[in-house]
Parts: sequence; C-alpha cells; structure tokens
Amino acid sequence: MSTVEHLLREAKAALAGHPEADEDARALLCHVLQKDRGWLFAWGDQDVAADPAERYRALIAQRAAGQPVAYLTRSRGFWSLQLQVDEHTLIPRPETELLVEQVLALGRADEAVSLLDLGTGSGAIALAIASERPQWSITASDASEGALAAAQRNAEAHGISNVRFVHSDWFEHIKDRFDIIVSNPPYIAEADPHLQQGDLRFEPRSALASGADGLDDIRRIVAQAPEHLHKPGQLLFEHGFEQGAACRDLLEQAGYEAVSSVRDLAGHERISLGKIPT
Ligand code: GLN
Repeated sequence: MSTVEHLLREAKAALAGHPEADEDARALLCHVLQKDRGWLFAWGDQDVAADPAERYRALIAQRAAGQPVAYLTRSRGFWSLQLQVDEHTLIPRPETELLVEQVLALGRADEAVSLLDLGTGSGAIALAIASERPQWSITASDASEGALAAAQRNAEAHGISNVRFVHSDWFEHIKDRFDIIVSNPPYIAEADPHLQQGDLRFEPRSALASGADGLDDIRRIVAQAPEHLHKPGQLLFEHGFEQGAACRDLLEQAGYEAVSSVRDLAGHERISLGKIPT
C-alpha cells in the first residue's frame, strides 16, 4: 500500500521538468481523494487504497503527457465560481477576471442592464457577472455546441437563472440590442509558437487563434457590435498584451468614443473598450 507522501513523491518524479510539478501533483491527488490541501499536509502517512492510487497514477501519466490539470479534474475556479470545463472550452484564466471587474463597475445591481457575452466558452464571464448582478438580463453565445452545453451545465450547477444561451457564430443569430457587449475572443496569431506549448496544445484552436495577426475575430466584433448595442452602449473585450494600440485604432476607426485600454496585474494592456454615444 502507498501512503499520501509516497504517491506525491512518485508523482513529482514522474512530472520532473514540469514547471508546476509539485502544485499539479497535489491538485490531482486532492481531486482523486476528494480532500483539500490541508488534509494532504496533515495526513501524509495515511495509506491510500489500491483503486484511488491507480486512478491517481493514470492521471499523473496523462499530466506528464501534457494534458492540462483543469481538463483532468474537469474543473477550474473563476471569480467566486467553480466551473466545469472540458475539451470544448477554453480554460478560464485569472486575467479574464479583470473583464468581469470592468463590467461590474459599469452598472449597479438594481439597474436593468442587458448584456451579451460573445463566445462564452465555459460561461465564465457571463456567469460571474450574473452571480453578482442577478437582476441583469444576460445572453451568452457560442459557436460551439459543446461549449454551450458546458456553460448551461455551469449555470444550472450554480442556480443561475438570468442567463439565456444562444448558439451563434459571433453575431450570426443575435437579433437583439444590448447595453453592454463583452467578449474574450481568440486573439493569438496563427503562427505564434505558444500554440504549440503547454495547455494551449489541448485547448480548442477556435478559442485561441484568430488569423495572421490574431485580430481577425476582434475586427469582426468591433465592426458588428454597433448594430447590436443600444445608444449609449459599451463594448469591452480582452486581447493580447501587445495588441492594445491596434485594438484602440480599430475602435476609433469604427466610430466608438471614449476609447481606452485597461492594464492587468502584470501591467499589460489586456482589455480595450469603447462607447457608442447617444
Ligand atoms: N489568454 C490566453 C493565452 O494567451 C488566450 C485566450 C484567448 O485567446 N482568448 O493563453
């Protein structure tokens, strides 16, 4: 029989060379044993039964082959929500919480605000906002049926009822107008070597890459959003850390006003926004 400590040591050896070997070994053991970090520390000499030990070794082998931890545990925390993720959805990133913060600053809970989250993936942005603004009327769209199914499961799991889901390739099936449109679109250049590295190798390419300069989908969203925004209305979207100036140009050329970018905690321009005036 192996103890918790033995299994962790064995896993760290199997993951040697991975930057987060220790963290990943613990996260996956917590998942298999359904215990938290504190339990692992306190009960290192506890025996683990053969069945969970084998399941753990199988997950460590998949992780050693590159599978993202979030796909192995089927789960990732975003904002205050634990979200189910799978191979149809991008894994929510902490920097995207900045987009949620910016949107929440635009309207109070008691205002009647309509919002569209374009390309919702696991539902991260729409559901985080819905959890903070239960009175708002929120639409979440995605071109991927698999992603929409995951987002709907996440809404149900959190008892969130003010989000409706629409299957749509960007604005294709969106008929309404909204006060706010928000998106974390794909924005990586097709030839960017990062697509061949780490978790990105396993995530849906359609959620990551967008043409030669990474801006194809952002161009489409910036061009079409005004037809789907009330006047006044606001568009906000995430982009790559070197795309701020290009995104502000696109917004200004398309007639948006009060165009600006917001920096993330690492100091990179990460979000750009613009207003359609009254
Ligand atoms: N922020 C992600 C990354 O660089 C990309 C997500 C996206 O394209 N929206 O890993």
